[in-house]
Amino acid sequence: YKPLATPFQQLGLAYDDVLLLPNETDVIPSEVDTSTRLTREITMKSPVLSSAMDTVTEAQMAIAMARNGGIGVIHRNLSIEDQANQVDIVKRSESGMISDPLTVQPDATLTDLDKLCAAYHVSGLPVVDKDDHLVGIITNRDMRFVNPDDYDSLRVSDVMTKENLITGPADISKEDAHRLLAQHKVEKLPLIDGNGKLAGLITVKDFVKTEQYPDATKDEQGRLRVAAGIGFLGDAWQRATALMEAGVDVLVVDTANGEARLALDMIRRIKADRAFDGVQIIGGNIATYNGAKAMIEAGVDAVKVGVGPGSICTTRVVAGVGVPQLTAVYEASRACKEFDVPCIADGGIHYSGDIGKALVAGADSVMLGGLLAGCEEAPGEKVLLHGKQYKIYRGMGSLGAMAPRGKKSYSKDRYFQADVTTADKVVPEGVEGQVPYRGPLNYVLYELVGGLHQTMFYVGAHNIPELQSKGKFIRITDAALRESHPHDIVMTKEAPNYTGFHS
Ligand code: 5GP
Repeated sequence: YKPLATPFQQLGLAYDDVLLLPNETDVIPSEVDTSTRLTREITMKSPVLSSAMDTVTEAQMAIAMARNGGIGVIHRNLSIEDQANQVDIVKRSESGMISDPLTVQPDATLTDLDKLCAAYHVSGLPVVDKDDHLVGIITNRDMRFVNPDDYDSLRVSDVMTKENLITGPADISKEDAHRLLAQHKVEKLPLIDGNGKLAGLITVKDFVKTEQYPDATKDEQGRLRVAAGIGFLGDAWQRATALMEAGVDVLVVDTANGEARLALDMIRRIKADRAFDGVQIIGGNIATYNGAKAMIEAGVDAVKVGVGPGSICTTRVVAGVGVPQLTAVYEASRACKEFDVPCIADGGIHYSGDIGKALVAGADSVMLGGLLAGCEEAPGEKVLLHGKQYKIYRGMGSLGAMAPRGKKSYSKDRYFQADVTTADKVVPEGVEGQVPYRGPLNYVLYELVGGLHQTMFYVGAHNIPELQSKGKFIRITDAALRESHPHDIVMTKEAPNYTGFHS
């Protein structure tokens, strides 16, 4: 008897198909080091990214992610201008020294000023004339006793502080700046160059933030880091350029099939252009060894893995294509290791325990959509249903994202359907729904990364490389999966990291 060769030899496993073995340990969970490489050149303290989705990441989420040691990827279902503006908001949100501070002119109205401050969440601005000479400063203090009814008629020059301005030289040290701020009890210190022009700004808020968020993911200038999604069709090049000019740290060439020739061409083109030297490129998504290799050969600085594992994703049933995520990460990371390029596991993470599984399978970080869509900082309103709060969460390949009523969709090319112009001709690869409201991101991330700390304790790993070398899997059955979850009990109280909400 000679068995027939079949095409069904390879087994694909999901996170739920395995557990990690406990191991000898001297690790204290609170002391582990979760730093990892996001890309070839950028490291971060927490191995988490928030998805480039319109119900997950805009500026507010990206700021919160970076403050907590991860990074957010601003979605691209926005006009080029709006997306670049979101990046700008993150880059200006906090900084060691702001080298090109937002300013206002003396003849602007207080209404203009108010709008500017609200858009960038700042409490005041340096006032400069047309030649960039500092003529005053206007902050909350100056505005406190002004009646908002007069905002239209009053000009910045009418209320700004112009006498005895406290300023520093452009090359002031951090310590001297702190001393000046404290001595004069002011919150903002404009920096002046040799020609009397405004050269920068240092704020008390940034000192406080640095103490409050010691793990923040920051660039060399002390600004929070941010990533943004781009496509590869039409005006994708203009988009990439506008984002780069806004100061984006990482561009994510974001497609449902990263092996598409056009996506690979886009990566090659960006990598060949010196103007993008300061920007790292992540390519995705792929789900095989060959896919990862193709991305690496095109020049990416990190590979993103995941075809169809997402909680809102229907690619595997609509197209019949995909690779179960644990196997996909394992296979893709084989290529990544060969070429020393970091690997990101994108989608399909249901619980904190899946993060450790993804890392042991070979990922360096994970991207989360559904687990973060319920956070306060995710775009969109809370909705109340049967007395419980939810937030909307939808796939970027859902009908709502690809064919929004009365609005332009910028996300269709992720699914290679940019040529489809009528809503009823779109073939969705995702669904729309809602997830439980989970409160502010820092609590949610604390639980998720805290779960990883526990994984590392059980495995006996002080850091991520150790977790990757020591972690060993055991395959489990359906019965074992049932045993893993709470069972034989009516749950009366959810835990912050276990809602039992698992569709
Ligand atoms: P989650 O964390 O919710 O399981 O998965 C989020 C990931 O799913 C995203 O980062 C993205 O890669 C992927 N994704 C987002 N929207 C869609 C969609 O509509 N269809 C598919 N196939 N994948 C999606």
